[in-house]
This record gives sequence, C-alpha cells and structure tokens, in this order.
Amino acid sequence: MGKPVVAIVGRPNVGKSTLFNKLAGKRIAIVQDTPGVTRDRIYAEAEWLNHNFTMIDTGGIEPTNEDIIMAQMRRQANIAVETADVIVFIVDGKAGLHPSDYEVAQMLRKSNKPIVLVVNKVDRIELEDNAYEFYNLGMGTPVTISASQGLGLGDMLDEVVKHFNSDGENEEDDEYVRIAMIGKPNVGKSSLINKLLGEDRNIVSNIPGTTRDAIDSKLETEEGKFILIDTAGLRRKSKVKEEIERYSVVRTLAAIERADICILMIDATEGLSDQDEKIVGYAHELNKAIMVIVNKWDLVEKDDKTMKEFQANIAKGLSFMSYATYLFISAKTGQRVNRVLKVAKDCYNNYSKRIATGVLNDVISRAVLMKEPPIVALRRLKIFYVTQVGTKPPTFIFFVNDPNLLHFSYERYLENQLRESFDFKGTGIKLIFRQRKED
Ligand code: GDP
Ligand code: GDP
Repeated sequence: MGKPVVAIVGRPNVGKSTLFNKLAGKRIAIVQDTPGVTRDRIYAEAEWLNHNFTMIDTGGIEPTNEDIIMAQMRRQANIAVETADVIVFIVDGKAGLHPSDYEVAQMLRKSNKPIVLVVNKVDRIELEDNAYEFYNLGMGTPVTISASQGLGLGDMLDEVVKHFNSDGENEEDDEYVRIAMIGKPNVGKSSLINKLLGEDRNIVSNIPGTTRDAIDSKLETEEGKFILIDTAGLRRKSKVKEEIERYSVVRTLAAIERADICILMIDATEGLSDQDEKIVGYAHELNKAIMVIVNKWDLVEKDDKTMKEFQANIAKGLSFMSYATYLFISAKTGQRVNRVLKVAKDCYNNYSKRIATGVLNDVISRAVLMKEPPIVALRRLKIFYVTQVGTKPPTFIFFVNDPNLLHFSYERYLENQLRESFDFKGTGIKLIFRQRKED
C-alpha cells in the first residue's frame, strides 16, 4: 500500500509554497535527480512521527482577477478531493476571512475527506485571536501556524497524521498486488485493462476506491490476486493546456503512490516521449516495481531484430532504471496479453524478495575477492558485513570502515554483483553504506 497523500489547498499568497518548502525541508534535496522530474516538482516526501506521506502542491495560482482565481481554486479543490487522503486547507490569518474561503470550504466539505483547517501567518502569540473568525467556516477548530517562522507545524502535522488510516483500508487487500497502468492518452491502457478483466472469468468486483474516487478493479487469476488502478478512464476537459497536464500528472502520481508495480505503457508507433520519461521517473523515485509494455505491436512492421532494437532504444531513454522489464504486446489482437500479469507478478516477487544474510555475505565476499575496492586517498574501503533491512524495494546495509572511501563505480559493481546472483529484474535495489568501527 502506498503512502498517504496530503494535498495543500488555499488562495494565492496564503503561504502554500512557504509551507510546502518548510515541510519538505532537507528531504527534498536528497531525492535523486531523475531526468525531467526535478524541474517542476509538485510533490515532496515528508515524515512526521514515523508516518511517511507524500505532499502534493495542487498548483500555484497567479493572482489576476477574482473570477480567474475562483475558477482555479475550484480546479485545485477538485484535484485535492480526488487524490488526497487528507486535505490541508490554508487561510491567511493576517488578511482575515475572505469571501472565497467560504466557497472553497464548501467544495472541500462535499468530498467527505478529512480536512485540516490551518490559519497561517500567526507569527506571534498575540495574533492567535485572528483565528477566531475562521470558526465561521464550519470546519472546526483551526490550527494556527507561521509557515515562515516554522511555528505550530508540529501541532498541524499531529492533526494531519491523526487522519491516516482512519477509514480503515481493508486488511485483506494486502494480499493483492496493486498495479497502476500509466502512460499517455491513447496508448491503449483501457484496452489492456478491459482485455485483462474481460478474458478472466473470476473478476471479483468493481469496487469504487474506498478512499478515493477512482475505480479500481480486483481480479483473481492463476498468477495471483491483483488490483488494477485505473488512471485511464478519468480525464477532464480544460481550456488551459497547462492545467490538463498538471491535472493528469497529479492523478497519475496518486495512482503511482498507491501501486506496488507501475506499468508504463508506450505506443509502438510513437516510441518513448519526454512525458513518458517523466511519468515513469516518478515511479522510479517513489521506489515502485516497474514494467514497460510496448503496445500496438501489431502495427509495427518487423523482422527478427526489431524487438531488440526497439527495446534498446527505449532503454537508452530510461537509463536511470536499467532494471525495468519489457513486454511487447497487442491489446487489440491479444498477442502476449496472457503474459502481462505473469511478468508483473515476477517483478512484484523480486520487489518483495528477501535474501538470507549468509548467502548475501558469501556473494559480497566473493565479489570483493574478485575485484578489490579501489584505493581512495591512500586508503581502501573495507566491507565488514551486509544485511538486508527491507523489501519493496530490497534494501541492503553495508557496514564498512569508512563510507567516504566508496567510489561510485564500486557501488555500481556491487549492485551488479547482487543482480547477477539474485533475480531483481523489474525492481530497483538500495544500497546503504554505514560506518562501523573495526574491532
Ligand atoms: P502561496 O501563493 O500560497 O504559495 O504563498 P507563498 O508561500 O508564496 O507566500 C505568500 C507571501 O506570504 C510571501 O511573501 C511569504 O513570505 C508570506 N508568508 C508566508 N508564510 C508566512 C507567515 O507565516 N508569516 C508571514 N508574516 N508571512 C508569510
Ligand atoms: P488509453 O487512452 O491509453 O486508455 O487508450 P485506449 O485503450 O482508449 O486506446 C486508444 C486507441 O488505440 C483505441 O482506438 C484502441 O482501439 C487502440 N488500440 C489499443 N490497443 C491497440 C493495439 O494493440 N493495436 C492497435 N492497432 N490499436 C490499439
């Protein structure tokens, strides 16, 4: 199950960006740069009291005139309502209650999602009184903060995390592998989903997403139990192109966050686009298992080399995730559609794989014997011990004499050795290096 999603909503200039940056804090800087993703980042991973969650900035609003602001607020509220587990509604304690705050409050309330009302710019204790008028919004007791001074953020986060899991996600759903089908419009996502559902007699149900409005489908097959998260059916019309893009990115992001495995679908007649790189970059950054499906293979004229060349081309664009696994299908003719869930399940198994400590240390010792770490600043890295500390994705801690002696090429070598010894196709793996004193 993915991390909870928290959306930040509010009028222009209430301090959304300030709050976002404050909460994202240092963590945003340590996220690895993925091509295309970093430029206009609209989400951040945050942590509070052992709760990890994803924060979404539902969009900046350029203050022009009131009508436009209101129209954009409405879109923002819609995005928040559709994608978030908890909505943080920010108002301006300095400017006071604004008529449009009522309107937004009403839109949000209809969602039945938990909402935390936050009065910002309460920079000093004397200003607390400014918060009283916001009771009029009928959203209960507001939390007062000062985003710029970093005041009250703890109390606010306490309120936010209180709402996590409050609607009790079905425990039995843990047996299901969650698959998000991502990709541009018209690549064939719905066609594949329909094919998968239609060809299988054991469709359990169409369950309306319990915490969101998306429609998920459960299905049970020989390969196992799956939930298909539908991002395809939900599209909005908007006059502003940028809005459409942001909208679909936020939607996709929420689907990715809820998934175990993301299937990037590409149209064989179009190849990989920048947008694909960006979307799958999110899945990579959020540590999901990843599978690439090239669809409409029926439309490609091919000989015995075409598939290999095609894959090499895509892999070039996706070099930051060389672990991805590929499948070439036709949702229309059904070619290899029966392989989709099998391959997805294999990726998932690798994603959840655990390696026994003994075997792991054997592999690493042998790797070090075959190729010693290079000398860095007259010293050499020494690996004492390796252990797997987590799955989804598999995460390994290496205890070493000094992590500063690790050369990136050697880290890559170690990762390759692990991948050669164990099957991690379809999933990233994480290597963490910690110092331990020699004894
Ligand atoms: P957004 O449009 O909602 O994203 O608002 P910004 O984060 O860009 O903030 C708008 C303005 O309010 C900026 O000038 C901020 O410096 C200021 N601001 C943000 N938070 C606070 C706060 O806690 N106290 C005060 N006094 N000003 C703040
Ligand atoms: P989505 O927007 O990604 O959900 O794409 P759709 O499933 O709606 O498919 C878009 C169009 O591509 C439809 O006209 C489909 O009939 C067509 N299509 C989907 N898969 C295939 C395929 O494998 N081969 C061919 N030739 N057409 C396909």
